[in-house]
Amino acid sequence: MYRSNTCGALRASHIGSEVVLSGWVHKLRDKGFVVWVDLRDRYGITQLVFDEDRTPKELLEQARELGRETVIQVKGEVIERASKNPNIPTGEIEVLVKELTILNKSLLPPFTIEDETDGGEDIRMKYRYLDIRRNPVKNKLIFRHKVSMEVRKYLSEQGFIDVETPYLIKSTPEGARDFLVPSRMNEGQFYALPQSPQTFKQLLMVGGLDKYFQIVKCFRDEDLRADRQPEFTQIDCEMAFVEQEDILNTFEGLTKHLLKEIKGVEIDEFPRMTFDDAMRLYGNDKPDIRFGMRFGELNAVAQHKDFNVFNSAELVVGIAVPGAAEYTRKEIDALIDWVKRPQVGAKGMVYVKCNEDGSYKSSVDKFYDQDDLAQWADVTGAKPGDLICVLSGNTNETRAQLSALRMELAERLGLRKPDEFAPLWVVDFPLLELDEETGTYHAMHHPFTSPKPGQLQLLDTNPGAVKANAYDLVLNGNEIGGGSIRIHDKQVQATMFKHLGFTPEEAKAQFGFLMDAFQYGAPPHGGIAFGLDRLVAILGGQETIRDFIAFPKNNSGRDVMIDAPAKIDEEQLKELHLKLNM
Ligand code: ASP
Repeated sequence: MYRSNTCGALRASHIGSEVVLSGWVHKLRDKGFVVWVDLRDRYGITQLVFDEDRTPKELLEQARELGRETVIQVKGEVIERASKNPNIPTGEIEVLVKELTILNKSLLPPFTIEDETDGGEDIRMKYRYLDIRRNPVKNKLIFRHKVSMEVRKYLSEQGFIDVETPYLIKSTPEGARDFLVPSRMNEGQFYALPQSPQTFKQLLMVGGLDKYFQIVKCFRDEDLRADRQPEFTQIDCEMAFVEQEDILNTFEGLTKHLLKEIKGVEIDEFPRMTFDDAMRLYGNDKPDIRFGMRFGELNAVAQHKDFNVFNSAELVVGIAVPGAAEYTRKEIDALIDWVKRPQVGAKGMVYVKCNEDGSYKSSVDKFYDQDDLAQWADVTGAKPGDLICVLSGNTNETRAQLSALRMELAERLGLRKPDEFAPLWVVDFPLLELDEETGTYHAMHHPFTSPKPGQLQLLDTNPGAVKANAYDLVLNGNEIGGGSIRIHDKQVQATMFKHLGFTPEEAKAQFGFLMDAFQYGAPPHGGIAFGLDRLVAILGGQETIRDFIAFPKNNSGRDVMIDAPAKIDEEQLKELHLKLNM
């Protein structure tokens, strides 16, 4: 028996009992006549004591030599501590050691195994197994486990069944690049790793399994923007005989369950907003609604004077920043520089200080009088003490810029509170998105998403105006889930492929299996997928997903611990019928 108790278990009630503990040497304090060792495992820390009066000499000497992270087993008696430590659950006791076995020695770890470590990101990733011994990482993995167990429990209780789908498949169209796997047995042919199980879950619906879920890895070979992983986990779901409303209700239920069980937060009903409103009011299809600062469009009240910057703009739009009228000239200049950074890309910013006495002071006082500015305040909802920030230009760009400013200011003002949860359904997404560069349309969600009823004809005349039965679940400014009601009619699917620029031959080659299946009684169906990594991070009150993943990749898609990706040898290349051309 390696242990009778864990290192987090012993309390005052155990005093007098004989115990066996195993774990890692966390810390050692040698006072000469007495040696204390903090013994650590996943469950906590227990203090071991060796002293001159009660411990045989050799044992005391042996204890003195213990290096950090050595794995040991001890047998001893639980005794009351002379000076108690109220900060840890085992702080009332210590174990007077009678036997010590070294189970394995350890090299000196390259960083300290402490909550606040001296190790930088790179070194911690290289020795991730040591990093996982640290509470902040360990606790996040345990937290993730809790979330995924609650997901399984909830969905299973709702009648969903967990079905595995294959990883070695053929391209799926989530709009990213595929990771490819050469086939040894099929010369010159490749599998693609799934960007999601999209087509398979639809085929499960054709197969009659009307409620499916899977916690599943997805693979997308994208340039890694901040905090993305090339392989990530989805809670993937699909249901048959459902309308959009059924899906929203079911997964609102799941999200409520998680918020309640994991965070103790109860939310009555999730608000809904159309995509168009989200763009108009927040400049963004995943608005953080934990705070206000809604956009006020100012064209009507700002385009009647000689200020050409505004007159020539497609959109003039502002936000009222609470309490920021007192910003100094320097602070405002810094804000202007911030929006002019290439990452944001605004040409400049107009501001209005709404003074406490009801007067206004703006950077464009030359063009606008107090009555004009009062109207701006009205439109943006600014109160005395607020600062109105106004951007102008092309609609899409200006919205994106003001949205970035809104988020930045909210961050600075402490309005993005990690323990406040504001879910939101964004609905009525456009079906298609115009690629400004090529002038062609592609599916905003994916090609299997159905248009709103009665809008199919519009595809020929005004494709950009067609709305989809597609929805996203947004939590605190992050898209945590997205899905759609699917097309289940072969003809409609063929029309859709045509509009996306597929020839009938291409459509058949790539998705013939799905269109064939639709001919055998495909039920109406729809679904959603949640990004589990992000969901867990947000529930955990964190902005980054990396520590919620046991073995994440770095920004270049590398696993620096196992050193992957890596070269393969000639023999393997030959077997796969591949030649490198670099
Ligand atoms: N497969 C979709 C995605 O990965 C989700 C869905 O439509 O259910 O975004």
